[in-house]
Amino acid sequence: MNLEQVRTLDAADRLRPVRDRFVLRDGVIYLDGNSLGALPKATAPHLAEVVERQWGEDLITSWNKHGWIDWPQRIAAKLAPIVGAKPNELLIADSTTVCLFKLLAAAVAAQPGRSSILTEEANFPTDLYAAQGLATLRPDVRPRTVPREDIPSAIDQDTAVLFLTHVDYRSGLRHDMAALNETAHAMGALTLWDLSHSAGAVELELNRSGCDLAVGCGYKYLNGGPGAPAFLYVSERLQGRLQSPLSGWMGHAAPFAFAGKYEPAPDIRRFLTGTPSILALAALDAGLDTFGGVAVADLEAKSQELTRFFIEAVEDRCGSETQLASPRDPKARGSHVCFAHPQGYAVMQALIARGIVGDFRPPDLIRFGFAPLYNGYEDAWHAADALAAILSTREWDRPRFLEWQKVT
Ligand SMILES: *Cc1c(COP(=O)(O)O)cnc(C)c1O
Repeated sequence: MNLEQVRTLDAADRLRPVRDRFVLRDGVIYLDGNSLGALPKATAPHLAEVVERQWGEDLITSWNKHGWIDWPQRIAAKLAPIVGAKPNELLIADSTTVCLFKLLAAAVAAQPGRSSILTEEANFPTDLYAAQGLATLRPDVRPRTVPREDIPSAIDQDTAVLFLTHVDYRSGLRHDMAALNETAHAMGALTLWDLSHSAGAVELELNRSGCDLAVGCGYKYLNGGPGAPAFLYVSERLQGRLQSPLSGWMGHAAPFAFAGKYEPAPDIRRFLTGTPSILALAALDAGLDTFGGVAVADLEAKSQELTRFFIEAVEDRCGSETQLASPRDPKARGSHVCFAHPQGYAVMQALIARGIVGDFRPPDLIRFGFAPLYNGYEDAWHAADALAAILSTREWDRPRFLEWQKVT
């Protein structure tokens, strides 16, 4: 295949026009939208409007006049088609880790007599830490970590919650959500899914696949900006049964009654804690608008095609110099791909120096995220080319590429 043919693929891509919704600099190929989504063109003007006109001119009246008080629900509703849930099952709140902790604690409290939080060894560290932290408050509960392949058989009558990340942040391996929900439910366990590397890139059917609880990240494929608030999902059938362990006034049935006794809101709002960050919500709102008119089936199809194309291009040009560390079957993974190289960190620094931005995950993985809204075949093509050049000339072997930075 030559560059011209690759451009034909991009021209035929149904999602191609969506790329124009983003600020993408010439000379930079951005393959890290799975870690920090690119900036939507609409974000800066929208933030300016919220800051200058709403906050600046309308001041506190904006809570009513511009409906700020309802933004956690209003903006969450935009996620409904993206994750396959009902609008009233979604809420924007806090950060991913805080939401994970809240839902995990709520789930454990709803499962008296069951003592294990079942998760996998390779889960994202913050998920493991949240479970460990909860165990310090609930000495009767312990996290139980097992290897991935042992998960189905480890679900038993003692499992309070099955707590997994849908798409693995390193390998990109994707769990069979529906099958695991079914196994968990057969044993009376609840399920909590971390969707950080799924939402906005792969097709999700939270309702249809029987999910109980889920949390996702606002700043990755959802383009909400650095440190954007997270979203949480609580199945309608559980909303009356679960309570947030961080009970605060925004989750009260009537926050402005200023009652002394906590009484949870009857609906999803009970999972709010304090006053939402309106500026952060405004940025996430613009981020979610980049999905306007896009069918998730198209997102998933493009993500699969692009990652398949990239794997082929890398293997074709790099031979045995780097090994695929993600599943080859696109249905078995998410929208990012990892390759292993003993000097992975330096290799990624050399790529970044050439304007090809991915990231590194220990022990030896170079990671490339393909955001189906704005990445194209030409991006994948140039990235594979640059990687081949860096490996064959050992361009990575320079002192400046071996210097570790705080954020990898
Ligand atoms: C990125 C990511 C998070 C992020 O958590 P924050 O609280 O937003 O820092 C959590 N879980 C997984 C699996 C992630 O990939």
